[in-house]
Parts: sequence; C-alpha cells; structure tokens
Amino acid sequence: MKEFQDDAVVLRTYKSGESDRVVVLWTRQHGKVRVFAKGIRKTTSRLGGTLEALAYVRVNLAETRGDFYVARHVAHLEHLSTLRSSYDRINAGYAVVEVVDAIPSDDVADEGIFDLLVRVLLTLDNEEFEPALVPASFFFKLLAHDGSEPVSNMCVNCGREGPLVSFDAEVGGTLCAYCRSGHSISSDALELIRRILGGDLAQVLREPSPRGIGEVMTLAQDAIEQHFGRRLRAAKSSPPLSPPAGRT
Ligand SMILES: [Zn+2]
Repeated sequence: MKEFQDDAVVLRTYKSGESDRVVVLWTRQHGKVRVFAKGIRKTTSRLGGTLEALAYVRVNLAETRGDFYVARHVAHLEHLSTLRSSYDRINAGYAVVEVVDAIPSDDVADEGIFDLLVRVLLTLDNEEFEPALVPASFFFKLLAHDGSEPVSNMCVNCGREGPLVSFDAEVGGTLCAYCRSGHSISSDALELIRRILGGDLAQVLREPSPRGIGEVMTLAQDAIEQHFGRRLRAAKSSPPLSPPAGRT
C-alpha cells in the first residue's frame, strides 16, 4: 500500500456509520483528499482531537481501495488556540474552508491554495487581526490566484478611470456610470477593496470596523459565487455555526 507524508488543512468532517468519520483535507502536494477515519468518534480514538475542521496538521496517509485514504499518523503543526477560543474566528475559518471544499479540483494539487489557507488560519489565530474581513479578503486572493482578480482601478468595460459607481463580479470588477451593472458601490467600499488587493491587507485587518466593510463582504461573496458558478452555502451570511466542542 502506497504511503506518504503531507501537510494538510482539515476542510470538514462528516459522520459515517456508527463511530467513523470521513475527513476532507486540502494537502500541500496532493490537493483535496478524503480520509476514512475508522473509529474516530470513539472517545479512545487517537485521531479524534487532531482531525477536526480547521486543523493544520502533518499527516501520514495510505491509499486504500476506492476513493479514500487512511491516516496512519497525525500531528498538529499549529494548535491555533486563539482561533479556537473565538466563535467569530471559527466562523470566519469555516466560511473559508467551505469555499475551498467547493472548489472542483479533486486530486489536483494546488500549493497556492494550500498556502492561502494556512495564511488564513495563522491570521485568524493572531489577536492583532480582526476576523470579519478575513473570508472576503481570502475570496479576492483566491480569485487573483485563479487569474481572475477583480478590476478596481478603472471601468472594466470601457477603461474610464472614474467615477466608478458599481461592481459586477460577472463582468470582472468596477464599472463607471455609463456602463454600470451589478451592485452599487460606495467610495468607502471601493477604497477598501483597493487596499485589500493592493498590498495593504495586514493593516486593513488591524482595523476593527473599516468603512465599507459590509459592502465588501457582500461583493466578495458575490464574486466567489460567480467564479465557481453556484451558490456557496458557507459564504452566505449564515446563522452562527456550532461551538468548537460540537465539531469533532
Ligand atoms: Zn465604463
């Protein structure tokens, strides 16, 4: 049986049978893989505490018959205790991993996405940074990684520099008054998007409630949904997810 070691982020887990669970991982070198974790829901399971959603781990995986892998050994690379101490941070993390889980790319390695995911987890684990804009920022970075970074410095249709009055993810970014479609955009939200895309993200995330934040969250959600061509459950403003103790 082929066995290998890889670094991974746990995207989600779901129940299987009485005491088993399937764990969906985004690995650095092997893309998205599914692990069948036998007995993981028993209190005696060695793997139970390590393979929960948002874990950042090093894992030894072995291939099995069928689509699943088996985890031989799992170790945390970071414990992420600050992230896990806050529902806001956990929920921001869930919004990110559920979008990654929806990327149609099984068995295709994408180290860029892995690196973005790890950066999200470490950002959420750092008290210096506010969690609210982390998913929106991640969505924009993911679009950029896919070669679809939204245009924010001119009209994406005619090239006018301004005034820019709307944002249309389907067209690819901001639009002038003559070409407008999509969502209206305020100058605050426009400025915030430019800062996120333009290298000022670390400072943006230090601000508790930057102007335009609500609009930017909506626009980023819309853009990522357009990109993947379907509604993404997690990216919508959803009721708070269950506390960490309930997610194993
Ligand atoms: Zn225009």
